[in-house]
Amino acid sequence: MSEGSLEAPTRHPIPWNDPDFYDEEKLDAEMRRVFDVCHSCRRCFNLCDSFPRLFDLVDESKTGELDSVESKDFKHVVDACTLCDMCFMAKCPYVPPHEFDVDFPHLMLRYRAVENRKGEIPTFGQRQLTETDRNGKLAAALAPLANYAAKRGNRMTRPLLEKVAGVHRDAELPKYTSKPFSKRAAPPVNAEAPAHGRKAVIYATCFANYNEAEVGEAARRVLAHNGVETQVVYPECCGMPQMEQGDLSRVADKAKSVAGTLKPYIDDGWDIIALVPSCGLMLKFEWPLLVPDNEEVKQLSAATRDISEYIVDIAKNEGLADGLNALDGPVSVHIACHARAQNMGQKGAQMLRLLPQMDLNVVERCSGHGGSWGVMKENFETGMKVGRPVFRKAKNNGKARYVASECPLAGLHIAQGMEKGQSEGETLPQTVPHPILLVARAYGLMA
Ligand code: SF4
Ligand code: SF4
Repeated sequence: MSEGSLEAPTRHPIPWNDPDFYDEEKLDAEMRRVFDVCHSCRRCFNLCDSFPRLFDLVDESKTGELDSVESKDFKHVVDACTLCDMCFMAKCPYVPPHEFDVDFPHLMLRYRAVENRKGEIPTFGQRQLTETDRNGKLAAALAPLANYAAKRGNRMTRPLLEKVAGVHRDAELPKYTSKPFSKRAAPPVNAEAPAHGRKAVIYATCFANYNEAEVGEAARRVLAHNGVETQVVYPECCGMPQMEQGDLSRVADKAKSVAGTLKPYIDDGWDIIALVPSCGLMLKFEWPLLVPDNEEVKQLSAATRDISEYIVDIAKNEGLADGLNALDGPVSVHIACHARAQNMGQKGAQMLRLLPQMDLNVVERCSGHGGSWGVMKENFETGMKVGRPVFRKAKNNGKARYVASECPLAGLHIAQGMEKGQSEGETLPQTVPHPILLVARAYGLMA
């Protein structure tokens, strides 16, 4: 096998409008071509469950080669992929522009797009779960009731939810807030701060808007304290949940619509901030690959920053505003896969290192959650298995006082995993839904 490419990886636009993209024979030929490269390479054997499934299929086949693996079994490989992008970003030497042209996650995505077109996915349960805007609006009006029903251990509702929607009865689900982030008042802006003059639109993202509004609240207060004027704009979800289900035309529609809404702000000099790494990845990278000819989507991609990336940028250029105090203990920060996939460095860790006397343990490995994937009945145990090394490392041999993941869903998953492995008398660290909350606490802006 030839050596990997030394050039920076590139990604091809996703040709979801081309009939060939859905041609099952052509898809099968491409799966066999790429799987054969992976079979010879095997670098990704421990990244997730997709690769072990693929290698087991090959090793247990009649010839020990891909030719005797049946195509119907490929689904088993695809179903284990959370689209975390780690094989593409972190491991694979054969990504374009290498002649082998391997983009494993986007091949999984193509398979799902074909399944989606055939009506095989999403299942009823997946569809209900991934309508995040509809669910968020409904649940905000009935937050206590929705949270009661979704609570782990509720023996009346959770078995029902498992039966009707396919959500594993033991999976921790995010709570809803009765006051969405986009409806909360803006904090006063510190006109004395060095970064005074910056202005930023916070794209709330469905998760910060309807679930962990504290993440948005913390970001807004830290930015205001640093002199940044903010507005919260939330036209609709970025479509990552639909992307996971291969519904690419719907994601493309969302891309065009959100980019159109945010355009006047960008033209007027506002930066765009994403609070959740998966949403940032969509705005920066996936949307331009889905609608490569749309200028507004390109403009939005160039204007978008992850919240940690933005704070680090302020620290580097203008310096952070005074008032940061040391936290009351060591922190483990989990660098989410979709933050790594943004190719921006460990910005969550860099941001926390700006706090005085910071004792930081960085955990950079997939937690095994993968959006809505990890809570489904058929995936939950696999997600728990994949995340085990992260659960262990996050505790840092009992040293960590706080665990913060850049991805709030991964944070929930890690908290549950740590709890599952808790030994008698062991004190677990407190999990916070994003490192920005620790910065807000260090400033004394939030409890
Ligand atoms: S994208 Fe992530 S889950 Fe999917 S195959 Fe690659 S490493 Fe595995
Ligand atoms: S995705 Fe790339 S690095 Fe991973 S097993 Fe396949 S060829 Fe090897």
